[in-house]
Amino acid sequence: MNRVFNFSAGPGVMPEPVLERAAVEMSSWRGRGLSVMEMSHRSDEFIEIAQHAEARLRALLAIPSNYRVLFLQGGATLQFAMVPINLRRAGASVDYLDTGQWSRKAIDEARKSGPVNVVASSADTKFTSIPARAGWRCDPAASYLHYTSNETIGGVQFHHVPDSGQVPLVCDMSSDILSKPLDVARFGVIYAGAQKNIGPAGVTVVIVRDDLLGRADPSTPAMLDYAVQAQSESMFNTPPTWAIYIAGLVFDWLEALGGLAEIERRNRDKAMLLYELFDATEFYRCPVAVEDRSLMNVPFTLGDAKLDPLFLDEAQALGMQQLKGHRSVGGMRASLYNAMPRAGVEALVQFMREFERRHG
Ligand SMILES: *Cc1c(COP(=O)(O)O)cnc(C)c1O
Repeated sequence: MNRVFNFSAGPGVMPEPVLERAAVEMSSWRGRGLSVMEMSHRSDEFIEIAQHAEARLRALLAIPSNYRVLFLQGGATLQFAMVPINLRRAGASVDYLDTGQWSRKAIDEARKSGPVNVVASSADTKFTSIPARAGWRCDPAASYLHYTSNETIGGVQFHHVPDSGQVPLVCDMSSDILSKPLDVARFGVIYAGAQKNIGPAGVTVVIVRDDLLGRADPSTPAMLDYAVQAQSESMFNTPPTWAIYIAGLVFDWLEALGGLAEIERRNRDKAMLLYELFDATEFYRCPVAVEDRSLMNVPFTLGDAKLDPLFLDEAQALGMQQLKGHRSVGGMRASLYNAMPRAGVEALVQFMREFERRHG
């Protein structure tokens, strides 16, 4: 198999051992004579697959027993709506931190159901930093405080969990969940679309503290109610069975390589290869404040933007794909999710050095 190095921001690179195992099991899962995607979601086989996925996720993140794990659909984008629908108390305000395009989208959706207090924004730095905690104007009566732990487009990441006092903390972790150990007990709700660090698009993981269930208005559509989804063990309707199965294989892979402490060590090591390059040259520039730089998504620009198409073409010819930056930021973006091998980043850095020698 001749695989490219895929630096896509999402859907992102998958671990090769997972793809290989899925290929072996594709048409006959464990000798049962049928594929996972052909199984009834109520069958003993699939229930075992779903329970396995949840158990492995619980073990990886050390999820306390008073949290429910839901496997839903609709992506992180549906969670932008479901969070306020489920957690906003009647008439109350909700707090949001504005650190980039994904938190903006969450804010826009929350505004549809009532008042939103933006506690702080990094718009004035073009979203290249995280506003200092001391300057956040939090509302102690807010139903929750929402933030985005890793801004996939801007390349800005929280390297600590912010303090929200008694107010439940809600986090969109779509692009950095499972990239490092996490203290789940600090949160009310964690959610993440799967297609960056978990598995195929189509499943969304929601981890919710059980005292936050059952707050949705009775008029809420059943599919959008966390309590209904928890009550039915994420099988209120047909769940995304294939995506849940692959997610379970990804969790197995993470566990086998040493869990979240080891993947964090690897992620830091990979990202530093790139960040050290930026510090050693004027030719490449990363716009993000050093202390807020993401280990998952690394945006950078070339000294001369006219060279961008040539850079991308040459990288592509060497088997490095999807390096074009988001249209709103320009330049390049290298996404280094869990499944990106160190060899991919080494190849990129070597190419960048060599490109600079010819054009710098
Ligand atoms: C990709 C992404 C989303 C959107 O996810 P969908 O599954 O497409 O809805 C939301 N938030 C963050 C941080 C993301 O990286």
